[in-house]
Amino acid sequence: MSKDYMIYQSTRGCKTVSPSAAVLKGIAEDGGLYIMKDMDKLSFDWQACLKLNTIDKATMILSALLPDYENMAELTERAYRGRFETDDLTPVVKVGEDFVLELFRGPTSAFKDVALSMLPQLITAARKQENVTDKIVILTATSGDTGKAALEGFHDVDGTGIIVFYPDGGVSPVQRAQMATQSGNNVKVCAVKGNFDDCQRGVKETFAKDSAEQLLEGKGVRLSSANSINIGRLAPQVVYYFVAYSELLSRGEIALGDKIDFVVPTGNFGDILAGYFAKLMGLPVGRLVCASNANNVLTDFLNTGVYDRRRPFLRTTSPSMDILVSSNLERMLYLAAGGDTEKVKGYMEELSANGVYQISAEELARIRETYSAGFCSEEETGKTIGKVWKEHSYLCDTHTAVAMTVCAEYKKSSEYTGSKVVVLSTASPFKFPAAVLQAIGGNTEGDEFEQMEELSRMTGVPVPANLSGLKARPVLHKDLTDRDTITEYVMSQIFEV
Ligand SMILES: *Cc1c(COP(=O)(O)O)cnc(C)c1O
Repeated sequence: MSKDYMIYQSTRGCKTVSPSAAVLKGIAEDGGLYIMKDMDKLSFDWQACLKLNTIDKATMILSALLPDYENMAELTERAYRGRFETDDLTPVVKVGEDFVLELFRGPTSAFKDVALSMLPQLITAARKQENVTDKIVILTATSGDTGKAALEGFHDVDGTGIIVFYPDGGVSPVQRAQMATQSGNNVKVCAVKGNFDDCQRGVKETFAKDSAEQLLEGKGVRLSSANSINIGRLAPQVVYYFVAYSELLSRGEIALGDKIDFVVPTGNFGDILAGYFAKLMGLPVGRLVCASNANNVLTDFLNTGVYDRRRPFLRTTSPSMDILVSSNLERMLYLAAGGDTEKVKGYMEELSANGVYQISAEELARIRETYSAGFCSEEETGKTIGKVWKEHSYLCDTHTAVAMTVCAEYKKSSEYTGSKVVVLSTASPFKFPAAVLQAIGGNTEGDEFEQMEELSRMTGVPVPANLSGLKARPVLHKDLTDRDTITEYVMSQIFEV
């Protein structure tokens, strides 16, 4: 590998690797996350990028972020062509004065599709580039959405296999049906007698046991992760910020160079960080507004510089944002600390030892140059869904409603300078039919499939095809394991995928 390509390093150490090696490894050996060195000096012709269609934008952006990949155009084509509801992949809709960027028009109606459609292509190409002949088997613990999006991305992709664990009784009936009916020659789906944390722990233990005891050494397979800490999941998300900007430009809503603010429903901080990457690449991004639900650890952090996870974990109607440790924030800390890996390492050590750390006033100021933050209660989430439906006939899901609520508050604050605002919409309302129906005054009797039909009947909005066909599809996966036998399950199935 040419030295010019050794441009990724860990947020906790200075040893460098190539982009494709970073994608294959997922996480650095020191526990840090891979990030491009001197990303703020990256030269990128953002104006030329705006002129391209979405798939070509993806090719140009991913080539800049992962420059050792040789045939990116082929990879983006394979990942995206014909797989989303619309050619632009992520349509922009005007709702009142603001804009909604719909990220959920992919094959599983989840925003995770944008990145998980691309990741398998990046992993298989990296495998070739790094001369790896082993099969790459992805292990994923899911609380619902990630598992299905990963299955859809990896099924029948040569050189890969995937095993997904979900908590038995801990995902919605629709999410369960999405996973249990998954076809493909290289997939296994297994329910776990336990909760999501048990699934996650089992997967982590399997990785740890494999590397400590070299269980798979010389057997032609190796494990990898589709988690959002992988740079190969983050990079594809930069694209839709450019798509939103081009859309507003072509509709005459902005002039070239005008800044746009983005409000982002946030959990692991990947989505919003991709917006920061877009800004570093030259796109005129104004403020990035971090929207949290009642688990508002990020709101507090962005307002005070103190990250304190010592608080109760709340279950909300926007479950994909129920999170107390936001992994990708570590990359933002690295950037705010000017690339000081010792400092980042120190903060992360404090977080794991004490559950809390505080960044310097200077670092906070640097973050706050771009970021604003707010959160939304459960009650307000429902109210916003009802209000937006009534006033604009636009049906949004619970996660998007959190962002819309925070958006309205942000626009009243002194930080808002009058730019156009784009709210990122991360889920189809049909994935959370009970909460959405309740919010618009509908009848929530019946199971989730009936609720989807009822929601569609009431609003005239069609159920996405991948969800409406689910009930009729045959169940292909019935495996169930104890929470303490996840590693054994993996070892017994790994040569079957
Ligand atoms: C994953 C997810 C989020 C959070 O995105 P992060 O990149 O983790 O901040 C928000 N909404 C939905 C529906 C999601 O699935």
